[in-house]
Amino acid sequence: MLVKLGVRSSIGDAHLLQYRSALFSKDVAMIQRDRLFIGGQWVSPSAKDTIEVHNAGTGEVMGKVPAGTQKDIEAAVAAARAAFEGWSATPADKRAEFLQKISDGLKARADELAKTIAQEVGMPVKMSARIQAGLPIANFANYARITREFQFEDRVGNSLVCREPVGVVGAITPWNYPLHQSALKVAPALAAGCTVVLKPSEVAPFNAFILAEVIEAAGLPGGVFNLVTGFGPSVGEALVKHPQVDMISFTGSTRAGKRISEVAAQTVKRVALELGGKSASVILDDADLAAAVKGTANGCYLNSGQTCTALTRMLVPESKYEEAAKLAAEAAKGFTLGDPLSESTRLGPLSSKMQMDRVRDYIKQGVAEGAELVAGGAEQPEGVAAGGYFVKPTVFGKVKNSMAIAQEEIFGPVLSIIPYKDDEDAIRIANDSPYGLAGAVWSKDEARAQKVARRIRAGQVDVNGGAFNMNAPFGGFKQSGRGREAGIYGLEEFLEYKSLQLKG
Ligand code: NAD
Repeated sequence: MLVKLGVRSSIGDAHLLQYRSALFSKDVAMIQRDRLFIGGQWVSPSAKDTIEVHNAGTGEVMGKVPAGTQKDIEAAVAAARAAFEGWSATPADKRAEFLQKISDGLKARADELAKTIAQEVGMPVKMSARIQAGLPIANFANYARITREFQFEDRVGNSLVCREPVGVVGAITPWNYPLHQSALKVAPALAAGCTVVLKPSEVAPFNAFILAEVIEAAGLPGGVFNLVTGFGPSVGEALVKHPQVDMISFTGSTRAGKRISEVAAQTVKRVALELGGKSASVILDDADLAAAVKGTANGCYLNSGQTCTALTRMLVPESKYEEAAKLAAEAAKGFTLGDPLSESTRLGPLSSKMQMDRVRDYIKQGVAEGAELVAGGAEQPEGVAAGGYFVKPTVFGKVKNSMAIAQEEIFGPVLSIIPYKDDEDAIRIANDSPYGLAGAVWSKDEARAQKVARRIRAGQVDVNGGAFNMNAPFGGFKQSGRGREAGIYGLEEFLEYKSLQLKG
């Protein structure tokens, strides 16, 4: 059943009424988005092609968005370029006001965002409210504060050092934390004085339309923020290639990140990359084993393992292996699979059929490689909607770090337990990865834990379950990326230095 909801915006009379799902309804849900947001207007895309978006919990089509084209990118970049001079000259305090308004606008629609993303991505709704809707709201407000406080100019000897916006930014984002990833680019880019063309993931694009409506309602000048949906190799690459785009801020797979680096090199534009991970949780021999295993499992299964920082390799002392495997199996059992819209679900489905098939193939590969299947497996789980993209929470034991399940990013609820001999061996294994995004260390001795954490080649390492900090720099070493997001570090990504040599 289609439910008609009136959404006030400048979309215009005929398009004022959008057809959306009653988001908690079990009826067939349909969200129709047939316009792109370019130059402050909701405009028709240049072609009629559309992309179907699937509900992760049921497999049904939940709606459609335009499959944009190079022409749409041309229009969006032209609008962003035209708006740049005015926006970059807007005082920082004024930009901060807009950012706060965007945060407030998202907050007013938090429930809708949480439910939309729960269906697009599959994250259980309670968590979706806290993370998928909550973090972007907090980040826009945080950047309002940072913009007010940041020193955009400094004196060094006879020079005035100015920090100027890099220019027009192309932001390309993935589906796993879709609005959060967009917010971590759009908020600091706007804070810096840049204008933006956002190309969200084709798998979870609806939240980006809500963001565009909120930005429109906040009254940002036309062209400062533009939204074009479409596929990566066509629309995404058109943005990366465009000579009028000064910077690409990309979050996604290492595979696409490499391609983007190559294409962007032709116009020597700045590229920031937030890519994949295969993070190690190192449990030292004096750690509280139960707490460490529980913390690692939580870090691995968050968002059904579709988290770039997921703690997918659990390194345990050989002497503690049996106990750790038992604890991990128990922890996995606690992750009840179910409908992402149900308040009692702890583990939702994966975001797409492709992702589900890929993860199940990895589980089969782990068995074939000789790892011990401690919990879960590749079969269809019971008690969940047959069409949904569910995978059992899985634990592999006695994993060797050379196995594919320990080297490659699976992006599903699959934990590998890797026994080690001593601390040196643990550090060696933790660093024996092409990735370097995150990690964890557990020990009763905080100083010992910190010493090990310092030797892990990764951008973020949690010590004894230390909490996520939205002001700490976020990003990867090695093939996990280049550059940092969040807090002032995220703002600096979008700034150029300029020095004026003064006479007096
Ligand atoms: P993906 O690389 O397939 O797609 C990401 C985005 O890039 C999408 O919008 C897609 O359309 C676009 N894209 C794909 N190919 C492109 C190309 N050639 N040119 C331009 N754009 C292109 O990734 P995904 O499957 O959406 O997301 C999962 C991946 O993202 C995982 O590897 C995960 O680790 C990573 N990720 C990293 C972080 C981080 O901060 N490091 C955060 C979240 C997700």
